[in-house]
Amino acid sequence: MKKTASAKKPAVQHAALFEEAKKVLVGGVNSPVRSFRSVGGDPVFVKRARGSRIFAEDGRELIDYCMSWGALLLGHAHPEVLTALKKAIGNGTSYGMPTQLETTLARMLAEAIPSMEQVRLTSSGTEAVMGAIRVARAFTKKNKILKFEGCYHGHADHLLVKAGSGASTLGIPDSEGVPLDFSRNTLVAPYNDLERTGALLKEYSGDVAAIIVEPVAGNMGLVVPDTGFLQGLRKLCDEHGALLIFDEVITGFRLTYGGAQNYFDIVPDLTCLGKIIGGGMPLGAFGGGREIMKVLAPLGPAYQAGTLSGNPVAVTAGITTLQCLARTKPYGRLASATQALCEGIQKAAQQEGVGVRINSLQSMFTVFFTEHRVTNYPTASGQDLPAFRKFFHALLLNGVYFAPSAFETNFVSAAHTQKDLQETLRAVRTAFRTTHER
Ligand SMILES: *Cc1c(COP(=O)(O)O)cnc(C)c1O
Repeated sequence: MKKTASAKKPAVQHAALFEEAKKVLVGGVNSPVRSFRSVGGDPVFVKRARGSRIFAEDGRELIDYCMSWGALLLGHAHPEVLTALKKAIGNGTSYGMPTQLETTLARMLAEAIPSMEQVRLTSSGTEAVMGAIRVARAFTKKNKILKFEGCYHGHADHLLVKAGSGASTLGIPDSEGVPLDFSRNTLVAPYNDLERTGALLKEYSGDVAAIIVEPVAGNMGLVVPDTGFLQGLRKLCDEHGALLIFDEVITGFRLTYGGAQNYFDIVPDLTCLGKIIGGGMPLGAFGGGREIMKVLAPLGPAYQAGTLSGNPVAVTAGITTLQCLARTKPYGRLASATQALCEGIQKAAQQEGVGVRINSLQSMFTVFFTEHRVTNYPTASGQDLPAFRKFFHALLLNGVYFAPSAFETNFVSAAHTQKDLQETLRAVRTAFRTTHER
């Protein structure tokens, strides 16, 4: 356990902070995974962060691989973003009127992701997905949406569905409070399964408005698309008159300067963005071809709105982040750093006699405690969860913060240094030893 040099005051215990939080915040948090439910123990309360590091309220310093769930590709408190934000705040924090900043960001998105001819900004990824689906339904005049098991698209009613057995077709909600009627129009197929997807489209032929997919799945742990999967979806959509929606809330500007669609060279009809494009501020976006997007109000009959949509402070963080990414082009370096880290983790696992499968792509990776290839939700669910819990907590004790669930991806940022990666590998080696302990 490392202490910061300046931690002179008696350490605050996170358990005590969590108890206080639970008195007034539901479960002590404002978003469920933060609560450590799936790994146990008390969440880390953050005092401040910089670069690759979290400085916790109890005085610990942690190398962070959660990176605000992927929102921070440049790392925490990036100086350029902070300077731009300070200036923006001085001009006022919200107007509810158009600004040139919004045009600038939309133009940057459209240039980087040419399928997004027309863009609408929102305040979160959830809202971006809700808007895209409404547009898809309004444009096609069809009702059903096909999604993939284990893909997360925000917490909208009709998307909180992953369905039970592979045989079930009509969506069963994952959450109480979602009437069956709301999820009835959500079809679910296993990720990477074109055959099942094709069969569902055939079965509901004529009523599927869109297929929505994470082009690289990050919400069941990292699962990459099999060769031909995304191309296959494009083809199926064209055959059945459905739109293809890429939920690039994680992958947008993470795999490359642009989207997974640039990386894999596949053109979806609609794209959803969030996380990185807000540079750590609340911001999302969706967009697509002009012909499709014109169904959206004020041009068309599909309504969507937001008091803080296109907020000048958030948009400034987004523009500055994208400018910095375009200028510094960190993608090659991020990919090789991540690959080296994953190779080191794999080697440490072998040496310690721990069976793991690591999925990684560019700056994303997940360590699955399983001997099997992980290609979809059922195979991701086959991992040894108690082993992951021990691994997670041992890492934490040794100064490394991984995403606090076995079903998440970790993120390497442009701020992670060689020294960070070496320290991480040392912690990983120690952590693997503990997974043997009963
Ligand atoms: C995080 C996420 C969302 C939801 O974004 P919020 O900003 O949390 O509402 C949607 N889709 C994917 C793929 C995500 O990872």
